[in-house]
Order: sequence, then C-alpha cells, then structure tokens
Amino acid sequence: MSSLTVLVALITAGGVLVLVVAVAVFGGGYLLTCRIWPFRACGRCKGLGRLHAPNGKSWRDCPRCNGKGRRLRIGRRIWNNAERAKRNAI
Ligand SMILES: [Zn+2]
Repeated sequence: MSSLTVLVALITAGGVLVLVVAVAVFGGGYLLTCRIWPFRACGRCKGLGRLHAPNGKSWRDCPRCNGKGRRLRIGRRIWNNAERAKRNAI
C-alpha cells in the first residue's frame, strides 16, 4: 500500500467520523428541542389559529390546525408514535 492510499483512507475515515459525530450532535439536539418545545406555529395561519378574509374583519378557524395555531413537530410525532408502540407492546 502506498502512503497516498493510506492518506486517502485516513482522510475518508476521518470524514466519516466527523459526519457521524455531526449527525449525532444535530440529531440529539433536534430530539432535545422536540422534547422541550413539542409544538411549532402552524404554517398556514402563522400560529394565529384563524384565517382572515381579505376584508380583515371576518375569519374562520384554520382547518390545518383546527384553530389551535400550533402543530406537533415531526420529530415529536415520531417520538410519540414510538412511545405508543412501546406502551402497546407490553
Ligand atoms: Zn393553522
């Protein structure tokens, strides 16, 4: 094996390691965020829970969030599904 091959292998291994650590850090941070702040503002009504008519006076409940103005984050939804599956498995 030439020294160049060893060098390339080392760089590749280092890159993979950095990638794994980065994914673990960001994934862990995202899970923690989903644990502390399970909701995000609804994208359609921007967290207001209602959609206004163009005249600005009449409004109706936002159908996407059922007028609550909040949406469960994807990470938290996966988390809840996993918890439910764990509970039902017993
Ligand atoms: Zn909404």
